[in-house]
Amino acid sequence: MDEHNPKRGGAETARVDYDAVVVGAGFGGLYAVYKLRELGFSVRLFERGSDIGGTWYWNRYPGARCDAPSLQYSYEFSDELQQEWEWSETYASQSEILAYLNHVAERFELRSAMQFETTVTSATFDEQSTLWRVNTDSGDQVVSRFCILATGCLSTMKTPDFPGLEHFEGEWFHTSNWPHEPVDFQGKRVGIIGTGSTGIQAIPVIAQSAAHLKVFQRTAQFSTPARNGPMDKAYEANIKADYAGFRARNYRQPVAMDIVIDRAAPKTFEVSEAERIRIYEQCWTNGGLSYSTAFRDSSINRAANEDISDFIRRKIAEIVHDPATASALQPKHIYACKRPCLDTNYFETYNRPNVTLVDVSKHGVESISAKGIIANGEEHELDCIVFATGFDAFTGSLNQIDIRGKGGLVLSQKWAAGPRTYLGLCSAEFPNLFMVTGPGSPSVLANMVVAIEQHVNLIGECLAHMREHGYQSVEVATEAEDDWVEQVRQAADRTLFTACDNWYQGTNIPGKPRGFVPYVDWPGYVGICEAAVNNAYRGFVFS
Ligand code: FAD
Ligand code: NAP
Repeated sequence: MDEHNPKRGGAETARVDYDAVVVGAGFGGLYAVYKLRELGFSVRLFERGSDIGGTWYWNRYPGARCDAPSLQYSYEFSDELQQEWEWSETYASQSEILAYLNHVAERFELRSAMQFETTVTSATFDEQSTLWRVNTDSGDQVVSRFCILATGCLSTMKTPDFPGLEHFEGEWFHTSNWPHEPVDFQGKRVGIIGTGSTGIQAIPVIAQSAAHLKVFQRTAQFSTPARNGPMDKAYEANIKADYAGFRARNYRQPVAMDIVIDRAAPKTFEVSEAERIRIYEQCWTNGGLSYSTAFRDSSINRAANEDISDFIRRKIAEIVHDPATASALQPKHIYACKRPCLDTNYFETYNRPNVTLVDVSKHGVESISAKGIIANGEEHELDCIVFATGFDAFTGSLNQIDIRGKGGLVLSQKWAAGPRTYLGLCSAEFPNLFMVTGPGSPSVLANMVVAIEQHVNLIGECLAHMREHGYQSVEVATEAEDDWVEQVRQAADRTLFTACDNWYQGTNIPGKPRGFVPYVDWPGYVGICEAAVNNAYRGFVFS
């Protein structure tokens, strides 16, 4: 089915190699191959990396693991798969998730559709034939009816651009391009820049082997304990006894996860201070992402969120022995405005004699010398530097591809002031082009595996609908897109996410236009998609 597949397309002379080209072999690309094949479409997948895994192929840094419980951060499309796979921990490690994805690829024979070490460089829409011509850096030129971009929300790293890096005589690594061989920090003086989710996972682990670890912190972050541990077998058996029911309930939950909200829960200040502290302590003991939903208004009411923030700040002061270090580690922003981090002994790590916090909040990291990092006017001599500096999120990977739609319109130019999509699935003037968890969909504000399956299912249904009705092309109406862009903005404005700088708004990338990208409301989004499909694909135009 995935062999070269010459067909006659709509136009008399057009060659069609595949029904669909998929870009990216993470959770999204793998499921897209499975789903489209299941529906009888031919598909070719291109992946820049040398193997499958996406996020879990690239981010091999020490301590990398998911923050969504393993039993939920996994596919639900096959009950056999979810019954047979056994996760060893509550939150799976990078290597275990990668092993799982390999298992999925083998079990469903997905690899035959895939070509690795191949970057898609351009995709051009031909208006006459309504086909896409896709080019790669390996010289492939493939023609397909549909182009499906499963290129990832967090797949283009923020390249370290510190002055002087080229002169550094030691080794340096970016967490999202980590070597495949283990990196040995034994006996080394290590510096790490970045204290987001990645840095917070890596720091406690690197500290265990480095001779000395210096953490260069520009912005202190909130983090709460994950409480990871071996999988509770009784809990797993209980979930597996009715996995479908568990999934179905979570699908309609906020963020598509069973972490959350008792909608009948009180608002923060409806209960006494003692009761609030009891609940926050319970969240701390239970671990996981529960603070966002400790109370009904935790994520939307600023005073309520300050209450949580103060509680976590007090915890930091209790854990960290050195008062100056504790104070520097206490975030100044509120908890709800950045992506919450989960950790294992993050703050405790600063009590180790071989760990030093270097607060660079005033002037940032000034430069890098041959011997180390220069900050606060001082040279810190290092053998290795780890950059945990994050990603050019959402649009980074999409904008790297020269995507041309109707009239030669270039997607990155259309998006110069910020991405514009309908439902985060398609962009007007780019027919037959789909994005999996694209800008304007909930994506990173939900359990992403669930969000990915929902998108791929929608795309698959749409393609089947077109085949059934003999349509050659689908695009979104400009008015539908304009309306959706506005809805995305309004949804963000109802939250506290815009109360500080964060990568959701692109402020981590110099020059990137500020604007909140994902749609805040899972499961509301699911209902909106269902309504659109049930109303004759409202907002989509078929021809
Ligand atoms: P990716 O896994 O990013 O895959 C995209 C692939 O596309 C990449 O392999 C990339 O090389 C390839 N690609 C991009 N452009 C091109 C091109 N032009 N040509 C060829 N190939 C290309 N989400 C959660 O819900 N829960 C979590 O706990 C969680 N933990 C995370 C931990 C880390 C360290 C990171 C970075 C992200 C985490 N995420 C988490 C988000 C995570 O990205 C998603 O959960 C999910 O793995 C994304 O899958 P994807 O297939 O959409 O994209
Ligand atoms: P991030 O949240 O963007 O954090 C980047 C860090 O690098 C920040 O501390 C930032 O400081 C710092 N930084 C960037 N440029 C800098 C500079 N020039 N000088 C000094 N410091 C600099 O990136 P991330 O930690 O990789 O996480 C990104 C997202 O990936 C997460 O929010 C999450 O969605 C996902 N992720 C998930 C998990 C998980 O679920 N287990 C793990 C890792 C990542 P400032 O804050 O001052 O900019």
